[in-house]
Amino acid sequence: MTDFEKIANLLFPNITKDVEYWENKYKSRNLPDGVEVTRFAPSPTGYMHIGHFFGANLDYRLAKSTNGLFLFRLEDTDKKREIEGSDIVALKTLAYYGIVPDEGFTVNRTDNGNYGPYRQSDRTEIYQTYAKKLVAEGKAFPCFCDKPEGKLDVIEKREQQLNSDSQIEEKDPCRNLTLSQVEAKLKAGKSFCIRLKSNGKEGDKVKVFDVVRGEREIGANCKDVVLIKDNGIPPYAFAHPIDDHLMKVTTVVRGEEWISTWPQHVEIFNALGFKPVKYIHTPVLCKIGENGNKRKISKSKDPEADMRYYIQAGLPKQAVLEYLLNLLNSNFEDWRAKNPNENVENFPFSAKKIGTSSPFFDVVKLEDVSKNIISKMTAEQVYEETLNWALNYDEEFANQTNSQKLNVKPSDFAEYLKNNKQYAIDTFSIDRYTAKPRKDIAKWSDVPSYFNYMFGLFNPTSVSDYESDIELKYNTSALSLIKEYRHVFSCEDDKETWFNKIKEVAKTCNFAIDNKEYKQNPECYVGNLALACTYIRLAVTGKTNSPDLYSICKVLKDDVVKQRLTTFMELIK
Ligand code: GLU
Repeated sequence: MTDFEKIANLLFPNITKDVEYWENKYKSRNLPDGVEVTRFAPSPTGYMHIGHFFGANLDYRLAKSTNGLFLFRLEDTDKKREIEGSDIVALKTLAYYGIVPDEGFTVNRTDNGNYGPYRQSDRTEIYQTYAKKLVAEGKAFPCFCDKPEGKLDVIEKREQQLNSDSQIEEKDPCRNLTLSQVEAKLKAGKSFCIRLKSNGKEGDKVKVFDVVRGEREIGANCKDVVLIKDNGIPPYAFAHPIDDHLMKVTTVVRGEEWISTWPQHVEIFNALGFKPVKYIHTPVLCKIGENGNKRKISKSKDPEADMRYYIQAGLPKQAVLEYLLNLLNSNFEDWRAKNPNENVENFPFSAKKIGTSSPFFDVVKLEDVSKNIISKMTAEQVYEETLNWALNYDEEFANQTNSQKLNVKPSDFAEYLKNNKQYAIDTFSIDRYTAKPRKDIAKWSDVPSYFNYMFGLFNPTSVSDYESDIELKYNTSALSLIKEYRHVFSCEDDKETWFNKIKEVAKTCNFAIDNKEYKQNPECYVGNLALACTYIRLAVTGKTNSPDLYSICKVLKDDVVKQRLTTFMELIK
């Protein structure tokens, strides 16, 4: 037995299995060439960031577009940063968007699949087996320096200041300890971490390959990085090569923030003798900041960084997925233009079409996508989705974040919708089944204020409750028009009769019916027909712009419309 082997046994007396055991346990998946196995591997450190979701969506599309597999692994080795429950948040967020892993850690905190455990904290024995092997081969060594973790922090800080083209040599003083020195330190009860005995020298280069960015040469690792911390648990750099190797992952999709430590991962893969996986580093999502400059979407400044924002605001899932695909694949927009009604799941996703520059994530554009999607839904779908949003609205989350101010408590609104189902569906049908449906609603949280006049939420008590720049108080022409109109209005009229009545009343009240005539002699009239219609619309809906007024009145029915006309008269007189 060599001294290295003896040291390995001293350091890991409880590791009785060898790496062959694990290699045999996790057999090849025997998948045809080109079939991708991808994984989403979040750390449970809080809510799900849009950037992470962007990557998970890519993982999923990549696997599905090749008839492959998508798995979920929980990377919970950093207990200090862990936030209770965020594993479930991540899984539920994916499920909400229809991204269901084929295998992995589940929402019941159990494992589904033959390549587990899928939670890193359950895999300590596996990591230590590989660490023991590296020590036995002289490729890794124990480091007994005080506070090895603290030292690592310093190294990592320096590393962040560098770009990946130049790595600083950082060889650890413990790398050449003899067997007897190690024995003595262990006897003295000193704690240790395991470090890689790096072969790199400053200035060395290594070739790396990213599916999207292509081949690059970057500064090789030359640091004795930590493989197992003094608590027996590996950092990301050692855990992910072992997991991805044993889980037979073919492509690792991860954020571009990992590029700076990529050389370490390459050296660790090589030391372990693993075939390297393919990588895709996803660009950081950006927005235009307050000063007009491009900046990262930030957890602290931007509510839209948190995936809960989209659920809370009620942006349809399809809109979020479609917008992200748009950012992911440059040809998406063309495809959508050619296939306006096709389900987004049928988009021929291609990894080759992913861009490398940081895409702009623009909530306004996302809302445009959403308006378009909602305009194509049936009234029944709009009803179900709005109800669902209102039922699941999280008051606590709304209070913690600067969520949109609502004109009704969502739970009350849900109650209202449940009790008035057909009426709500009739409302949502207005201007919907036409060649050009309206594109006014971007999110379900818009519905209570958009249709406030349909859902009992428009109860004006003064003229300022009408959304209009027109002076309404003491507006005698508006008053006489509405007074006359109230006598003749009937929701039983067909559209033509309805409109003819408006024209007649307008004429009686000295509004010009012929607009040309009005333009020539405006002083002879109190306004034109359009203004008369605006007064009626204002009286009924409180707004100057609304969907088709005739349809609105038909759904509201006589009593309500007449009551609105009366209230209007009382408030303006
Ligand atoms: N746990 C890492 C993270 O949350 C995963 C990186 C990776 O996907 O390899 O960023």
